[in-house]
Amino acid sequence: MTDVSMIIGGERRAAPSSFGVINPATGEVHAEAPECSREQLDEAFDAAAKAQIGWKADEDARREALTACANVMFGAGEKLAPVLTAEQGKPLSEAGVEALGAGVWLKYFADLEVPREIIQDDANVFAEVVRKPMGVVAAITPWNFPIVLASWKIGPALRAGNTMVLKPSPYTPRSTLLMVELLNEVLPPGVLNVVSGGDELGKWMTSHPVPRKVSFTGSVATGKHVAASAAPDLKRVTLELGGNDAAIILDDADPAKVIDGVHAGAFANCGQICSAIKRVYVPEAMHDEVVEGIAAKAAATKVGDGMDPENTMGPIQNKPQYDRVSELVAEALAGGGTAVTGGAPVDGPGYFFQPTVLTGVSEGTRIVDEEQFGPALPVIPYRDLDDAIARANATTFGLSGSVWSEDVERASGVAQQLECGTAWVNSHLGLAPHQPFGGFKWSGLGVENGPWGLAAFTEIQVQHRPK
Ligand code: NAD
Repeated sequence: MTDVSMIIGGERRAAPSSFGVINPATGEVHAEAPECSREQLDEAFDAAAKAQIGWKADEDARREALTACANVMFGAGEKLAPVLTAEQGKPLSEAGVEALGAGVWLKYFADLEVPREIIQDDANVFAEVVRKPMGVVAAITPWNFPIVLASWKIGPALRAGNTMVLKPSPYTPRSTLLMVELLNEVLPPGVLNVVSGGDELGKWMTSHPVPRKVSFTGSVATGKHVAASAAPDLKRVTLELGGNDAAIILDDADPAKVIDGVHAGAFANCGQICSAIKRVYVPEAMHDEVVEGIAAKAAATKVGDGMDPENTMGPIQNKPQYDRVSELVAEALAGGGTAVTGGAPVDGPGYFFQPTVLTGVSEGTRIVDEEQFGPALPVIPYRDLDDAIARANATTFGLSGSVWSEDVERASGVAQQLECGTAWVNSHLGLAPHQPFGGFKWSGLGVENGPWGLAAFTEIQVQHRPK
């Protein structure tokens, strides 16, 4: 048995086999995770379906249990953070914050009201719209924020009266397995199950007959497969997918003020955030000053093993992603771009990459047109603001974006022209449990968080009676 287990029906379960989990700071397998069999997945869905009967019946019990889950997460940082850092790479302090964040999200949903709305109450008819749980949810998460992104699904799904089978990414399974084990200490058996395995296991889940809803966070390409796989039996789907967020700096911005925010919005979590800044549009007159400022901050980053508290940026999480970022940067440089800082992997073991700021690149270069999902940022000069807005919008992505200016009203007017789910002014990455988060176009389908995210785990039922 591996030291972390799947949890099915409230019990720790070993799998017939296991797979190696790599520590991205070394590039070596550091631990094992269970490889769920098809029979065990069936068992997990059966356990969730059985548990849902009692779980949906008692709203007060659900609130209490979710509050207890939040408290578990508030106290779980010390146990979870080293497991998360060892497989994900992020600094230990950020891993601890991620566990806390999951607590914040779970507490928010514990306290949130499931809406009921009386739409008619007169001499003839009483009609009310109520929200019913869907049943069992299949939840699938990526490797960049395994813990907090799982809580975005667990909180609303369970609060609404659903039960869940959760599958983390094969790159970061162990922290999620441990998280669910801890949460099962305060949840009834079968309400929250966790399985681990490869992408194939995700396919089995989305095509499985038991779940009525798939909640997926990951790449656009996989999201399209998930939608197709869920279609034959009309499972409901929420898809949180990739982004290519633009930050547009206006000509009245104070460079000294925007540099910190733009740098943080682009390089947090080693650039591996769906809604990170992935390209910057800056007025020509301000270009050099902004580039130098961001580059100086990037160059000062302490890159290294997240277990060492000195380091503020860990490695890229996995080899394919490291290869992709290396390739996109190399291609930009070969095409005439300049790395003002960085521009290459860090020598030595592990998937470390120098924080990179690129100039001399524009649309038509893959690092501008595609999602790089790593610590490399193109900065692009513009002359005409309308043209910059059009270029920011000229993409199949539509997750989020930001506008930076001394004039908040003016910036808000520009932000409203962005075709994306969240449009920030003078900030980027401000996320909160009460704020819906989702993407336009290929960045997603539906939203998570807030009452809107809760509603996505329910069906509407009209209760209608003549008077
Ligand atoms: P991915 O799509 O490769 O994998 C995500 C999850 O899907 C993993 O658990 C994986 O095992 C599973 N999976 C793979 N193929 C599957 C299939 N055919 N059917 C079902 N499940 C399958 O994504 P990733 O590389 O882990 O994550 C990075 C991507 O996630 C980036 O594009 C990023 O922008 C996006 N992301 C989006 C959000 C958001 O909220 N919008 C948040 C974080 C990450």
